[in-house]
Amino acid sequence: MTYVARKLDTYSKLKKLGEVARFDVCGFPSVFTGKNRKFQRFKFIYPAVGKRGSCVRLFKVLQSNACEGNCFYCANRKDRNFQRINFRPDELAKLFLQYYSKGLVDGLFLSSAINRSVDLSEERMFETVQLLRTRYGYRGYIHYKVLPGTDESIIDAAARLADRLSLNLEAPDAKHLAELSPSKNYASDLVGGLEKIARINRQKPLKAGITTQLVVGAARETDREILNLSGRLYQDYKLWRVYYSAFMPILDTPLEELPPCSPLREYRLYQADFLLRRYGFTPQELPFEKNGNLSQDCDPKLVWALRHEDKFPMEVNKADFHELLRVPGIGRISARRIVETRKQEKFTRLDQLRKTGALTTRAGNFLTLQGRFYGGGERKATGQINEQLFLWEEL
Ligand code: SF4
Repeated sequence: MTYVARKLDTYSKLKKLGEVARFDVCGFPSVFTGKNRKFQRFKFIYPAVGKRGSCVRLFKVLQSNACEGNCFYCANRKDRNFQRINFRPDELAKLFLQYYSKGLVDGLFLSSAINRSVDLSEERMFETVQLLRTRYGYRGYIHYKVLPGTDESIIDAAARLADRLSLNLEAPDAKHLAELSPSKNYASDLVGGLEKIARINRQKPLKAGITTQLVVGAARETDREILNLSGRLYQDYKLWRVYYSAFMPILDTPLEELPPCSPLREYRLYQADFLLRRYGFTPQELPFEKNGNLSQDCDPKLVWALRHEDKFPMEVNKADFHELLRVPGIGRISARRIVETRKQEKFTRLDQLRKTGALTTRAGNFLTLQGRFYGGGERKATGQINEQLFLWEEL
């Protein structure tokens, strides 16, 4: 490991430690939103998505990039030759507050590499957050990353100060983790850590819940394996979100020659994840291809509908809320409005349906209105109606 050769000033540290922190995702895949562009100048300002699609600017940084771990894909791995840097807790707390008080950021996302030991790294991160909350009276948003192997007492203390806790599982199971990381123990360090966080969150729910992140496309895992895990995490641990991070090869790592994961794969995973969390789908219902992955050509809700022709066209005046949710072009809000509107009047025309917010060019292919079908025989023209879901989601 290469340690700091010369003393860096605080802003140079921020530039470096903010840049590597961006590999930890916490929002909608930026490649599809374009929201990242105006922040590209500041690698440490991360545009997450807030309530109703608003943009929340997170000050996203590592306390340290000096790591004892040697994960095959990671920019901070021990055997990689680059400059190692640490923030002192007070230095980082004050730096964050400078940006916050100028209105340049809305919250903090704090993570760290494993610098010498998990305990020491956690101690430093905890001290940073504690200084912010107690000495400096900061009341805003804090996302605190728990490192694998952290003691439950530290997690418990961090949960009292943070709005959100997360721990990265990285892979859907131990077999795939072995292709990414030589030293992490999937059952005890990762799943065990998430279990501890979930326990604490059950006793006293965190304001912004608990989350995890998976690396996609570096360990030959399938979308089915990933989404089966996500389904279990939502059910058993009440996770707020699972984030999917498309693998990008990093120079001077063992995986530097592996091709990057397509952003579209990441996007389809988010769409399918949305079906699990908000549309009542189970992982078993998701429409995987024979190879265990989702179709890249078409969004998963549409693929599901096309594979269940026996359920369509559906009569909009009779279908219940959950049935309506399965119709491409109808989201949760429009399904609710349809059910409400129906109490007053029957749907007989597409313009009535349009007023609920439904995308009638899509939904019309899967519905009848008082027995009349308005579809133009385009149900299979997937290219024209291939983007079903709008993924704005609160932090
Ligand atoms: S422990 Fe974390 S920071 Fe260290 S090499 Fe592994 S993924 Fe990177």
